[in-house]
Amino acid sequence: MKAAVLEAVATIRDNPRPLSFVELPTPVPGPGQILVRVSACGVCHTELDEIEGRTPPVCLPFILGHQIVGVVEVLGPGTTRHRMGERVGIGWIGWACGACSSCLSGDDNLCPDFRATGRDLPGGYARYVAVSERFAFAIPERFTDAQAAPLLCAGAIGWRSLRLARLKDGDPLGLTGFGASAHLVLQLARYQYPSSKVFVFARAAAQRHFALSLGADWAGDIDDSSPVKIAAVIDTTPAWRPLVAALSNLAPGGRLVVNAIRKEDADRGELARLDYAEHLWLEKEIKSVANVASRDIEEFLALAARIPIVPDVQEYSFAEANRALCELKAGQNRGAKVLRM
Ligand SMILES: [Zn+2]
Ligand SMILES: [Zn+2]
Repeated sequence: MKAAVLEAVATIRDNPRPLSFVELPTPVPGPGQILVRVSACGVCHTELDEIEGRTPPVCLPFILGHQIVGVVEVLGPGTTRHRMGERVGIGWIGWACGACSSCLSGDDNLCPDFRATGRDLPGGYARYVAVSERFAFAIPERFTDAQAAPLLCAGAIGWRSLRLARLKDGDPLGLTGFGASAHLVLQLARYQYPSSKVFVFARAAAQRHFALSLGADWAGDIDDSSPVKIAAVIDTTPAWRPLVAALSNLAPGGRLVVNAIRKEDADRGELARLDYAEHLWLEKEIKSVANVASRDIEEFLALAARIPIVPDVQEYSFAEANRALCELKAGQNRGAKVLRM
């Protein structure tokens, strides 16, 4: 099968073509696994974290990609949950033990044996992928393959982030960064919290315009002060400066939810600006999001179809994977990027 593999960890600046296209044997599904013929795979900022070494794959060369949409082509031994020809999606959660206290309480994303699709287990930048059937989910009919891809990570993690924000209807919500995840969270928040005002903080003017077109009440730059203090801010940026800025916009008792698997080091010095009185006092909280539990994906897919959420998708051919990654790194993005296989 054709696959794009990461052969070495390096910055995009040093190696703007991080993936190589190779022929590999088509995987054979083991017990409890299904073979999926991939039709679309979303491009996530986490791929940049893997490529640049902030959360590197378990070995090299390796197939990245964890917003996978495809069709079940082979049922492995002992599988019961899916049928041949079914359209399924797979997100970052590729495996968890199913027996520890985290798994049993529905937070299998916190399982000590958690394994990530496209980092610990081969991912979807390939023609085929073998996955555990427990972590593949039926895709609602109303979405195309390309539309469904960003729902599996950007959307599902947005859903988890919004839950962890513990907003009440009417509470002001802030979104710092306006990429693939935030443009879905904005649509979700509009539905879940119709009386809440949404404030968007984004570096690029195009992203601020896009946010306003999707119904944001206000859009400003990362360092701007919001017109009112905000009950919860969800940060989806790779940097530290926006995090410090968000803390000063929080209302007393407010909560900053950081939706990022890793932060980049470039502006780490910004943390030295943290002032206890301005940024933390009055019971402000910081909560990280450890990506998604399997129930987040399942719940979000159903909710997204019901609302319905309309993902804004920029499609690339599989051969253009390196270009998609470089453009994501450059930060001038609208909506979500998806590779068509
Ligand atoms: Zn992701
Ligand atoms: Zn577990």
